[in-house]
Formats: sequence, structure tokens, C-alpha cells
Amino acid sequence: MRADLHTHSAVSDGTDSPAQLVRRAAEARLEVVALTDHDTFAGFDEARSEGARVGVQVLRGVEMSTNLDGYSVHLLGYEFDPEDEALLAELGRLRDSRSNRLPAMVSQLRAAGIEITMEEVLAVAEDATAIGRPHVADVLVDKGVVPGRREAFDLWLGEGMPGYALRYSTPLERAIRLLHEAGGAAVIAHPAARQSVAVLDERRLEHLAHACGLDGIEVDHQDHDAPTRRRMAAIAERLGLVRTGSSDYHGTGKIDHPLGCNLTAPDQLAELAARVEERGGTIGLGA
Ligand code: AMP
Ligand code: FE
Ligand code: FE
Ligand code: ZN
Repeated sequence: MRADLHTHSAVSDGTDSPAQLVRRAAEARLEVVALTDHDTFAGFDEARSEGARVGVQVLRGVEMSTNLDGYSVHLLGYEFDPEDEALLAELGRLRDSRSNRLPAMVSQLRAAGIEITMEEVLAVAEDATAIGRPHVADVLVDKGVVPGRREAFDLWLGEGMPGYALRYSTPLERAIRLLHEAGGAAVIAHPAARQSVAVLDERRLEHLAHACGLDGIEVDHQDHDAPTRRRMAAIAERLGLVRTGSSDYHGTGKIDHPLGCNLTAPDQLAELAARVEERGGTIGLGA
């Protein structure tokens, strides 16, 4: 069973439509793929329909913007009830926080001497439901200010850079609770990368696993080197957490993250499905 549990479409900051992403998943010989756009699952229905056509099982997912002690932590949610009102309200709040910070980012960039407008950002985001810094990055690339998204983050959009503006994110423990109450599973994305590594030591993970029922951590991710993967796998084993592996595919929006570059082992996927079923949901993996 080849399963990739973390991917992004153009509904957030990826570059493929949900259907294109699923076709590419089939080409990469994936049997299971979770669409985990940032703060939205608006691409799921399209992805699932295409999955039924090309023989890929598509899991409903989302990557929620959360924080722990003010540090950004990305939380993957799987197979939650898509009509759960509390979860829907929180995802709406997160998307609003994305849209609301854009004018600040644009005016800060303009103050720093870059001719950029809101219209240009909205045009590049097209019909994305969740607009993010990568869309602003794409405008900077189009203008020749930077060669790629990475450089745009390093020089302009990363924390502490001229175009950075803070936005609301959900407290991590509340996000886990919301996903559980909606019958879903909660898995921390790339826990040893970016800001997460600053707060997610083993003691914190133990609290999250034992007191909050965190279901798993993403062990195999491109932002984790081999020793980090071994360390995270050992922690997961000790704490009884599901170990996932995934690409964090963003189409051409992120290099070195091809579909299927990391996979989730069948026994770990089965454990994740069992946890969803315990909460009354079904993952519907078939046989
Ligand atoms: P936002 O969701 O608006 O806070 O932007 C964060 C998103 O930008 C992340 O989820 C990544 O998809 C992307 N990102 C973060 N850092 C980089 C980077 N250095 N290069 C390219 N994309 C990045
Ligand atoms: Fe992203
Ligand atoms: Fe992430
Ligand atoms: Zn992601």
C-alpha cells in the first residue's frame, strides 16, 4: 500500500488543481493520498471524484495553522466530519486571518520600496480558498525581485523580514480537540522543522500524546534529515504515536517534494484508521 498523507493543491498554496494532483498521484503509483490544503478542505470533493476515476483512494485532510507558546505548529487533520460546526467556524477564522493580513504585508513591502498591489496578489492566487505568503512570493518572483519562493521567504516574507505580518492561529491543544470532536485524527506535521522544533521537545510531545490524545507525528518529511527521522521515530514508538511519512507536495511551488517521496507504512495507516473508527468515523480504505 503506497500512501502519501500530506499534499497541497491550488486551493491553498500548491499549483495543481485537486484533480490534477490526484492524476499525478496515480502516475506516481500511489494508492492512497490525503489532500491537506492549509486551513481548507474545499478541494476534497473534486479530488475524490477524480480518485474514483483513476483508482486512488483520497482521504479528506487539512493542515491547520496552530501555535504552541506563540510558535507556529502545523497540524494535519484526517477524516473529520466535514459538517462539524465548531471545526468549520475555526477553519473560517483561520482563512479570514490569512486574508486580513494581506493588506499589511503589501503596504509593508511597498514601504520597503517594492511596487506591489493587492490586485496582483489576488490575481496570482486565482481561486484559492486559502491565500498564503507563497502567493505573495509568486508576485515577487513574477516581478523579478527574487528567483523563487524560497528566496522570497528568506529575504522578504519570513519572520522578521520586511513583508512579514503576524496572523491569528489556533492554540494547538484546541485544534487537536476540535479535530477529535469532529471524529477525526490529529497528526503534527514536520514536528522537527521550522518553528515547531523550538517548542516540540519530547516532554511536550509526551503531554500532547498522553493528555490531549494526539494521534501521530510526521516522521518522514523532506525537512527532517536521517538522524532527525530516527530520533522522531523512536519518540513516536515510545509515546505510542502513529508515524507518518509524506511528501508535502506543492506542485511546482516547492522543489524537492515530489509526490510519494516519503510514504506512510501500511501498519501505521491501519493504526490511524483504527483511531478514526474509535471516534465513530470511517477512513474507508477498502480491503
Ligand atoms: P503561510 O501559510 O501564509 O503562513 O505561509 C507558509 C507556507 O509557505 C508554508 O506552509 C509553506 O508552504 C510555504 N513556505 C514556508 N517557507 C517557505 C520557503 N522557505 N520556501 C518556500 N515555501 C515556503
Ligand atoms: Fe504550504
Ligand atoms: Fe506545513
Ligand atoms: Zn504542508
